[in-house]
Amino acid sequence: MSSIAFTNIATLVTNDVSSGDGVLGILREATLVIEDGLIASITQGKPSGVDSVIDCAGKTLLPGFVDSHSHLIFAGDRAEEFSARSRGQKYTAGGIASTVDATREASDSVLAHNAQRLLNEALASGTTTIEIKSGYGLTAADESRSIEIAKSFTDETTLLAAHVIPQEFKAEPYAYVDLIINSIIPQSSAKWIDVFCDQGAFTPEQTEAILRAGIAHGMLPRIHANQLSAGKGVEIAVALGAASADHLSKSTTADIELLASSETVATLLPGAEFSTHLESNLGRKFLDAGATVAIASDCNPGSSYTTSMPFCIAAAVSLLGFTVEEAVRAATFGGAKALLREDIGTLSVGKTADLVLLNAPSYIHLAYRPGVNLVHSTYKSGRAVTTWQK
Ligand SMILES: [Zn+2]
Repeated sequence: MSSIAFTNIATLVTNDVSSGDGVLGILREATLVIEDGLIASITQGKPSGVDSVIDCAGKTLLPGFVDSHSHLIFAGDRAEEFSARSRGQKYTAGGIASTVDATREASDSVLAHNAQRLLNEALASGTTTIEIKSGYGLTAADESRSIEIAKSFTDETTLLAAHVIPQEFKAEPYAYVDLIINSIIPQSSAKWIDVFCDQGAFTPEQTEAILRAGIAHGMLPRIHANQLSAGKGVEIAVALGAASADHLSKSTTADIELLASSETVATLLPGAEFSTHLESNLGRKFLDAGATVAIASDCNPGSSYTTSMPFCIAAAVSLLGFTVEEAVRAATFGGAKALLREDIGTLSVGKTADLVLLNAPSYIHLAYRPGVNLVHSTYKSGRAVTTWQK
């Protein structure tokens, strides 16, 4: 048995509204003890009988960030496309094709090394749980190897064979939908099934058929909806009981109300808004309607090439209308909800000891000091780690 006490924590974010102040469940000058990878106690007193003590004077301790939306299995980059956008070119779903070509050509080890590099970045900025999607292979073999590589890093793997229609199926998109339903899904061991339901991607009918096929295969549904245009993605997500509907930039008032009245989490992606076509104040619409909101990195080489959840928090506050408290909660508790995880996202007795210690007296500094890495150390299941491992 090994135990660690974090003492004199200037600000402790618990997300447990029953024990602390405000939506973040804040405690001051608290002591948190972890034992065998779980949270054993949270008190105001001095610890006794622990193996080691970490003095957290002047620092903030909060749940590790839960990044519920990423696309880390790819090769190459699209810096030129980003540069073109800075000169006024619009973002479309079409750029994904260039990453598909690079990914198909890459070896398994190139794909795994690239993912490991990005995951080390994510860990260094406080992410302790991440969802990883396939979606740059778009053949049975390439989607399958993408999921196998993702599974070596996380349990939260998502089959996104329905990312775009690959070039070779442009003339007959239904043949690709058939391939997904009859070949790619049956061969996949991913936990989640996802579809990019949008203009230039998959129609509502195709989306529903693919999600239903995934559910029949034992996968859990989630969706990319309303990123580029308003459509039926939210309706489909709620009807099928999806854990989360993501992007949502062009959502209608009816979509927002539907999500708020459902169990489906509204996941907003501040990095994508920042990098593409910015829908300002997007967060307020969902928060004011009472939806459960998550924010995630959407890390991908086209529309959001960041692994930093602190950056996403800062962008959510300055661009999407979140309060700092709402953004921090969305990046921790909200992400856990979007992955249907009860064991993480909250710091209370019995939960997994996934923690971030900040070199800052308050969580407010996450948004107040944008672009500065404030992370002192990241703990996964009670262990300080600097290299991502499952
Ligand atoms: Zn995405």
